[in-house]
Amino acid sequence: MDVLQTPIEYLKGVGPNRANILKQELNLHTFQDLLHFFPYRYIDRSTFYNIIDLPKNSSEVQIKGKIIKTEVIQQKKGKRLVAQFSDGQIQMELVWFRGHQWIKESLKLNVEYVIFGRLNWYANRPSMPHPEMETVENFDKGFSRTLQALYPSTEKLLSRGISQRVIAKMMQELLQSNHSKFAESLPEDLRSKYKLISKSEAVKNIHFPKDQNTLTAAQNRLKFEELFFIQLQLLMKNLQRKQKIKGFVFEKVGNHFNTFFNTHLPFELTEAQKRVIKEIRKDTGNGQQMNRLLQGDVGSGKTIVALMVMLIAADNGFQSCLMAPTEILAKQHFQSLKTLMGSMDLSIALLTGSSKKAERKQLAEQLESGALDILVGTHAVIEDKVQFKNLGLAVVDEQHRFGVAQRAKLWRKNSIPPHVLVMTATPIPRTLAMSVYGDLDISVIDELPPGRKKIKTIHRYDSNRLQVFQFIAEEIQKGRQIYMVYPLIKESEKMDYKDLMDGYESISRAFPRPQFQISIVHGQMQAKDKDYEMDRFIKKQTQIMVATTVIEVGVNVPNASVMLIESAERFGLSQLHQLRGRVGRGNDQSYCILMSSHKLTTEAKTRLETMTATTDGFKIAEVDLKLRGPGDLMGTQQSGVLQLKIADIIKDNQWLKTARSDAQALLREDPHLEAQKNTPLRQTLAKMKAYQNIWNYIS
Ligand code: ADP
Ligand code: MG
Repeated sequence: MDVLQTPIEYLKGVGPNRANILKQELNLHTFQDLLHFFPYRYIDRSTFYNIIDLPKNSSEVQIKGKIIKTEVIQQKKGKRLVAQFSDGQIQMELVWFRGHQWIKESLKLNVEYVIFGRLNWYANRPSMPHPEMETVENFDKGFSRTLQALYPSTEKLLSRGISQRVIAKMMQELLQSNHSKFAESLPEDLRSKYKLISKSEAVKNIHFPKDQNTLTAAQNRLKFEELFFIQLQLLMKNLQRKQKIKGFVFEKVGNHFNTFFNTHLPFELTEAQKRVIKEIRKDTGNGQQMNRLLQGDVGSGKTIVALMVMLIAADNGFQSCLMAPTEILAKQHFQSLKTLMGSMDLSIALLTGSSKKAERKQLAEQLESGALDILVGTHAVIEDKVQFKNLGLAVVDEQHRFGVAQRAKLWRKNSIPPHVLVMTATPIPRTLAMSVYGDLDISVIDELPPGRKKIKTIHRYDSNRLQVFQFIAEEIQKGRQIYMVYPLIKESEKMDYKDLMDGYESISRAFPRPQFQISIVHGQMQAKDKDYEMDRFIKKQTQIMVATTVIEVGVNVPNASVMLIESAERFGLSQLHQLRGRVGRGNDQSYCILMSSHKLTTEAKTRLETMTATTDGFKIAEVDLKLRGPGDLMGTQQSGVLQLKIADIIKDNQWLKTARSDAQALLREDPHLEAQKNTPLRQTLAKMKAYQNIWNYIS
C-alpha cells in the first residue's frame, strides 16, 4: 500500500484521540491529507528586534529578552497579568487578560525567551498582548527559526491542545519518517520546462521553508501540479467522451433552415452569432456527441441561435427540445419561437407543470410518433414519462438553474444521447469556465446586436425618490414601460414580502389609475396569476411591472426601458447585471436606476460603483469573483473542482493557462499516458482521491 494512504492515527504523536479531532475539524484522514494541509500564511521568525527599533504600528515582531518581574493588576473588569520584559537595554510590557494564574506560574524570571506577537502602542509605549513565547534554548532546537508556517485552526483544535506547534511537530514527523517515499508526480520534461522543484523538496519547503525563495519555489511547484492535474482530468474526460460517445450526425442543412434564413430571419445575424452557429454545425456533423456551453451576455441573442440549430435538427429528421428554468420563461420562449417560425411547416408545443392531462396525453402521442418537431418547456420535459421518437438536440437555457443531475437525465432519453447545448448568460470569466466546464466545449457570443443604445446606469438614494418617480412618469408618457424590482432573500421572506407590498402601495399612490396601470408578480403567487400579470405587461396593458426577482431570468419585453432596483445594495453583482439586462432590448435609450439607503458597506459600494461604471458582463463577473471568491459564483457551487488547496484561480491565472495548454499538448502526444516518461502522471492519477469526485461531477 502507498504509505501516504496510512490513516493519520498511525503517525507518531497522533493516536486515535487526536486523529478523531483532526478528522472532524480539518477533514484530515491520511498521511497524504496531512501532507497536503497547506499553511495559509507564514511569519518571519528570522529577524529579532530591539525594543528601541520597534515599528510604530501593530505589526508582528519577534524579540529576545528576559522577564524581570510579573504582577497581577486589578482593573475594572477582571484582572490582567503584566510582565516587565527587557531586551537588556529597555523594557516593555507583556500583557495577559486570560489564564494569568497558569501563565504566571509558568513564566521563569531571568531566563532568555523569544517572544512573538502583535504590537500594541499606547502613549508612545509598546506592549504585546498574549505573546507566543518559548525559551531561547527550545527555540534554537526547534525548526521555527526561519519562516514559520501558520495553519488553519479552530477553537476546538486549540482547546484540545492541537496548537500550531503541535501541527508543526506532526508535519516534521511525517516528513522525516517518510521523506524518501514521496513519489514524484510530474514528468521530468515538464519539471525542467518550468524549473519546478521535485515533489519531495516542495512538500518539505511548503511546510518548513528556509527562506522566501525556497517558499516561492515550493508554491509554484505545488500550484502548477494542482492546476495541471485538474486540467488533465477534465481534458481526458472530454477526449474519452468524444471517442466513446457516438452522436447523431446532422449531415445537411436543409429546407427548414434555408427557408428560415432566407425569408423569416427578422434581422441580420451578428458575426458572433454566425460564428457560433458554425461551431455548433461542425460539432453536430462529425459523428460525436456535442456537449457545448453557449455563453452570451443578456440580450446577445442566444435564442435565435438555439432556434436555428433546432431547424438543422429538423432538417435531419430529428426532434429537439428547449428547456427553461421557469414557466414564464418557457412560455415566452415558446411564443417567440412560434412568432419567429411564422408559417413554417414545423410543429412546436409547450409542456410545463401546469399543462392539462388531456394536453399531455396528446403531446405524448405526438412526441412518440414523431409528429412533433420541437418541444419547449420546463423541467417537465425531462420527466421520465416524456418519451421522444428521436430526440436529436436538447437546448438548456439559463444553465445555472439546472442541476447536473438534470443534465444527466437528458442523456438517458435515447440510447444515443442527444446533442446538448447549454445556454447561459452568467458571464463566467473564461479562466474560470475553463476549469469548471473543462469538459464542455465553449462558444461565446461576445457582441450585442447592432443599434443597441448603451444602458445608462445611475445610483440614487432613497431621499431622491421624488425626482426618480418624476423621471419615470416622463418615460411612461413617452410610451415606455418600467420594471421596479424588490429583493427577495429567503431568510426573511416575510419581511421582503411586506417591503414589496408597501412598495406596491406607495407606487400605486404615486402612479394612480386610470392614467397608470400596474402589474405585480412575486413568488407567492400561483403560476397562472403570474403569467396573467406578465402577459398584461407584455401586451402593454400595464406600464409598470412591480416584481421580485422572479423576472430576473430571460424575460424579453423590448419596450421596457427603465429598470429600477429597490434596495440595490442587497443584490449580488451578477443578479444586478441580470436584472439590468431586462432593459436595453429595444431601440430606445434605456436606464437602470439603483436605489439604496445611505448606509452602505464597502462591498456594497464596490458593487454599485461597478454597475454604474460598466455594462460588460465579463468585467462585472471578474469583480464579483474577487468580492465573493469562485465557490460562490452562480452555477459553480456544485463543482467541487474549485476547492483548490493551494492555487488561486484569479491570482494564479497565468499558471492555470499554462497548465491547461501543457495538458492539452501532452494529451495530443500521448492520449492514454502510455509513454514511459508519463508514468508519474499515470500513477498519480490512479492514486488521486479527487479523481472520483471530479468524474462524478462531470456527468
Ligand atoms: P438572450 O441572449 O439574452 O437570450 P435574446 O435571444 O432574448 O437574448 O435576444 C434579445 C433580443 O435581441 C431579442 O429581442 C432578439 O430578437 C434580438 N436579437 C437577437 N439577435 C439579433 C440580431 N442579430 N440583430 C438584432 N436583434 C437581435
Ligand atoms: Mg434568453
